[in-house]
Amino acid sequence: MTTMLETYSTVTGADVIRHLQQLAELLKGKTVVHVNSTRVGGGVAEILDKLVPLTRELGIDTRWEVITGDSDFYQCTKGMHNAIQGNRITIPDALLNHFLEVNEQNANQLRAVLEEADFVFIHDPQPVALLKYCTNRKGKWIWRCHIDASHPHRRTWRFLDRFVRDYEASIFSLPQFVQMLPHSSYIIPPSIDPLSDKNVDLTQDELDAVQARFSIDRDAPMIAQISRFDRFKDPVGVIEAYKLAKKYIPTLQLVLAGGSATDDPEGEVVLDEVRNAAGDDPNIKVLQLPPDAHRTINALQRLADIVLQKSTKEGFGLTVTEALWKGKPVIGGDTGGIRLQVINFHTGFLVNTPEGAALRIRYLFNQKQKMLEMGVKSKEFIRENFLLTRQLREYLTLMVSLQHGAVDRIELS
Ligand code: UDP
Repeated sequence: MTTMLETYSTVTGADVIRHLQQLAELLKGKTVVHVNSTRVGGGVAEILDKLVPLTRELGIDTRWEVITGDSDFYQCTKGMHNAIQGNRITIPDALLNHFLEVNEQNANQLRAVLEEADFVFIHDPQPVALLKYCTNRKGKWIWRCHIDASHPHRRTWRFLDRFVRDYEASIFSLPQFVQMLPHSSYIIPPSIDPLSDKNVDLTQDELDAVQARFSIDRDAPMIAQISRFDRFKDPVGVIEAYKLAKKYIPTLQLVLAGGSATDDPEGEVVLDEVRNAAGDDPNIKVLQLPPDAHRTINALQRLADIVLQKSTKEGFGLTVTEALWKGKPVIGGDTGGIRLQVINFHTGFLVNTPEGAALRIRYLFNQKQKMLEMGVKSKEFIRENFLLTRQLREYLTLMVSLQHGAVDRIELS
């Protein structure tokens, strides 16, 4: 039977897997526990779903525990999430007290596992206070913040800081998200899973089916932005860029795909703005996709010649990673994590305006060879930097370094 590691080695190369095995050798016999608040849905669960079995295959005893709570608890943690991302939300004290009670109840359930573990990764704010109730912990605890904490609402951050400061380390996704803490903070950006439905290679039949389903013209140039209908993603700016470029590329097609907006009142307003801006142009397809349309999104990213992500504000921008992995140059907004991924003239172009985006669209369609070369570079850039195996390597390195304290040299065998 082929192991997961063997399958990954076909994508990443054997050296990457060997390096993971060398690091894992230093952690043999250790126990690791990841804790978050949901087994399915959202990026954290998606990553842990693969990361935990992969770590186990490396011979490290790794568990994934999920805390439970009631609707008041999740109302509180949703407020915390929004407040960390900068919203001025004051969470009532009663809810904060309830947050602590729920953390204590979960600590009572998980205490034996958590106190015995050598490394505990606590993901996001929901389980952050478990540490307070595991007073006999023997291992190192690491708080892993997946959200944009660059400008947290101060009152909420002060509340969380009381717990976070007692951890041995914290991890943020980007340098600008790091908060002042009395321990070491590590930067570990997110990653994509190359073997997931969103990113796996597709057959020509599957691509043809998606092309036919959305009446995409196979022979005409196509640009796409796949992103929530959110003003910060600037879908209307993408339509402006398309219109400017179309004067020079008359057959140009644009696909704008996002999720269904029914549960997001603002999403619906933005979708209306997008539909108004698109007017009756038959070459603009505005698609509302269900949440599980991973293979469809995969196909649209592969069908496009160029992918846009013209955000004016962005955390990391996984859509950029996904598109680059498919060998597409990305024209992205000059902001947040897009800057880490889009390297001018190598993996795409950073832009600030619809005019800038239109200029780069024209440039790339006029330089087909350059476009293909950039696509090849883009894929290799993601292979090197933003696949799940890189994230796992950094988690292992972090554990090794915490275990060895201040030694200045660690030999891998
Ligand atoms: N996505 C999706 N359906 C959509 C739009 C986006 O599944 O209709 C996915 C997209 O492929 C990516 C994630 O949602 O994996 C969006 O992540 P990103 O970091 O780009 O932006 P966020 O939405 O988190 O701001």
